[in-house]
Amino acid sequence: MDTLENLQTVTAKIKQAAAACGRSEKDVTLVAVSKMHGAEEILPLLLAGHRVFGENRVQEAMQKFPALKEQFPDLKLHLIGGLQTNKVKEAVSFFDVIESVDRIELAEKLAAEMKKQGKNLPYFIQVNTGEEPQKSGIVPRETISLVNKCRDLGLNVVGLMCIPPVDDEPAPHFAFLKKLAREAGVKELSMGMSDDYDIAVQQGATFVRVGTALFGQRDYSKK
Ligand SMILES: *Cc1c(COP(=O)(O)O)cnc(C)c1O
Repeated sequence: MDTLENLQTVTAKIKQAAAACGRSEKDVTLVAVSKMHGAEEILPLLLAGHRVFGENRVQEAMQKFPALKEQFPDLKLHLIGGLQTNKVKEAVSFFDVIESVDRIELAEKLAAEMKKQGKNLPYFIQVNTGEEPQKSGIVPRETISLVNKCRDLGLNVVGLMCIPPVDDEPAPHFAFLKKLAREAGVKELSMGMSDDYDIAVQQGATFVRVGTALFGQRDYSKK
């Protein structure tokens, strides 16, 4: 598994997908999803100049990233997984962007914690576009109201994030998220993973979250 080669492949595919619809690849940020992969697998990407990473668990990120952050102070870490209210303090202190705000109680806790820590992070609202009961994310019809409540609380909501149902065509979900974002008055769209990030770019993604296509399969038997 050559992560650097993978980085080149993914970057080239983003560029191609962007060019195909008249966009610039500069408008798309690649979030390298490093969950379940160790610091030794992350380091080559940092040495190659990549700086934006995504983790889905607060605890795991706080084990792996402190040393890397020290070595690369401009590293940006996105929280892309569900956030429990009892982890809000750590999340606000450790992450640079939180992509998974999906309920008002969480927004209230985040707002209070930000005040305490004197921080002002960018947030995405996670939308459950497929309305899947097992998946986190706010349902579409309540999204605009949640965005507005978050703003009232002083949260800097920059965009929307989604994970389409695995068995669905992703493109309609991406197009739908874009329409919702326009209605909610937010600019950024975090959508697209290893299997569909090129499709997401063509649908307007400004952030794609790619793990497997960079780092290979995650080995869940190790943990
Ligand atoms: C794991 C994960 C990804 C990356 O998935 P891959 O298919 O490995 O690219 C993206 N977004 C979220 C929210 C994830 O949890």
